[in-house]
Amino acid sequence: MIMTDEQRALILKQFKTLKERSSFYAQKFREVDLGDVQTQADFERLPFSEKDDLRNAYPLGLSAVPEDDIVRIHSSSGTTGTPVIIPYTAQDVEDWAVMFARCYEMAGITKHDRIHITPGYGLWTAGIGFQAGAERLGAMAIPLGPGNTEKQLQMMRDLKSTVLTATSSYALLLAETIAEKGIRDTLSLRKACIGSERWGEKMRARIASELGVELYDIYGLTEIYGPGIGISCDEHAGMHYWSDYLYCEIVDPKTGAVLPDGEIGELVITTLRKQGAPLIRYRTHDLTRIIAGDCACGSPFPRIDILIGRTDDMVKVKGVNMFPAQIEEVIKFTDGASSEYQVMIDHLNGKDILTLFFETGAIGEEKKRVEEELALIFKGKIGMTPVAKGVPLGDLPRSEKKTQRIFDNRY
Ligand code: ZN
Repeated sequence: MIMTDEQRALILKQFKTLKERSSFYAQKFREVDLGDVQTQADFERLPFSEKDDLRNAYPLGLSAVPEDDIVRIHSSSGTTGTPVIIPYTAQDVEDWAVMFARCYEMAGITKHDRIHITPGYGLWTAGIGFQAGAERLGAMAIPLGPGNTEKQLQMMRDLKSTVLTATSSYALLLAETIAEKGIRDTLSLRKACIGSERWGEKMRARIASELGVELYDIYGLTEIYGPGIGISCDEHAGMHYWSDYLYCEIVDPKTGAVLPDGEIGELVITTLRKQGAPLIRYRTHDLTRIIAGDCACGSPFPRIDILIGRTDDMVKVKGVNMFPAQIEEVIKFTDGASSEYQVMIDHLNGKDILTLFFETGAIGEEKKRVEEELALIFKGKIGMTPVAKGVPLGDLPRSEKKTQRIFDNRY
């Protein structure tokens, strides 16, 4: 993505005093004179910021303002070890609400709506972000938080909630409960904003039809304000993000090289206006791509695709990056292949070899045809030729937990 003049000006402005304000960046960029960073190419040579760097700054080492100017902190929901603490100034809190209100507007939500908020309140950024955006818009916020499904449904009915905000898994639970009880007709829901993560088409269709709502993917992460930095529009062709607050890059997760628009890689975000904890080239580990060109909805804001996965899921074979969602798509398009598969990557005689085992009901010549077709589709969609091997239905291992499907035996 080409950096706009406005974005470059905002970056250069914050670089002028960044090291004085932030001991974190004074240390991180100790070998860089930020005054030398003038062009996009200069910027792309700066080191990335990682979640571990942020963790090492615990508790308030990320702060780039006097402590008196911090009006709130949030913390990312680290499952292990030291949490990451993100300090916010009053301006940061306001900027976040402005971005969030824009998200609601992008989804066609207005001040006349009643926004039912089920994401959690507390140290992390979810519930309070949805609420601040609703209030900023002038809509009615109904701050339930998660859990207690009976009460959710009662309030949803009695207060005539028109918009549901939720994670995809909680939205599914609500949709299933509503279907079971047969109470859809008593509700007023028309739209749902769902926290963006990788969720399947089947789940999407189920939630949309059971709830009878139009779904929008809303994106964000605690380190960068929280949810509300991007959302899908009525065209449902990726998510618009607020490029006057954020500069987005897509990089190769393995090499860190910036990738051209349209190519899938890791989303890296730089904040342009954040005061409490500015982030420069922060690695999100989310896989997506920049969607080039204008959206049919007419919005001037650029787009990233809905999330394709996490970088941890990705493998590189013969110079080609690939990840489970792509392989699942190949299988979906192969006539005769069922959904279970396993990938083995080996290094033999100086060459990488990718073997894709998939379950199929076909035998003999027919199985050979399915294997050839799968290899062709794989080559077309991903860019390299695998060894495709059909195995009988039920042959591949299943597990209660997330099944591991890619085995990299090269290292
Ligand atoms: Zn659009």
